[in-house]
Amino acid sequence: METKDPIIKFAVLDKILNLARANSLWPVTFGLACCAIEMMTTSMARFDIARFGAEVFRPSPRQADLMIVSGTVTKKMAPTLVTLYEQMPSPKWVIAMGNCAISGGPFVFKGQYNLIEGVDLLVPVDVYVPGCPPRPEGLLEGLMKLEEKITGTRRFPKPEQKW
Ligand code: SF4
Repeated sequence: METKDPIIKFAVLDKILNLARANSLWPVTFGLACCAIEMMTTSMARFDIARFGAEVFRPSPRQADLMIVSGTVTKKMAPTLVTLYEQMPSPKWVIAMGNCAISGGPFVFKGQYNLIEGVDLLVPVDVYVPGCPPRPEGLLEGLMKLEEKITGTRRFPKPEQKW
């Protein structure tokens, strides 16, 4: 019997793959400045990023699908950052962690000559985590946001705002 439905439903397959991807994000080991200390703290026992499957920080971009840009992006570092991003296999995602990565942070002033004022000028950014530095909880919330972007659903309900 003929059917209009495809034998292989890629939409369902994609949904399953995206669920697997969102729950096993592998960040490339990549810290640029003080925000990286908070990123490292997020992987320690107290905050335990392993609860969300994202603890496998890879030394090679070819084994990673997430770049957490944590720190100040200088013009000298920019070509390296872009090369690392290009070496990551698709699908891949970027979190801009901290005000420096988002917009240059406290180092933006008239006449500054050595800073990229936002990593989104170099690579596409999926999630922005503001703060100087953001706390580990902030990075975890950013990770939830990215999971939501990949799967279309949120793992936990949004925290209640009390102000
Ligand atoms: S945002 Fe603040 S804490 Fe993060 S790298 Fe910049 S100066 Fe350091």
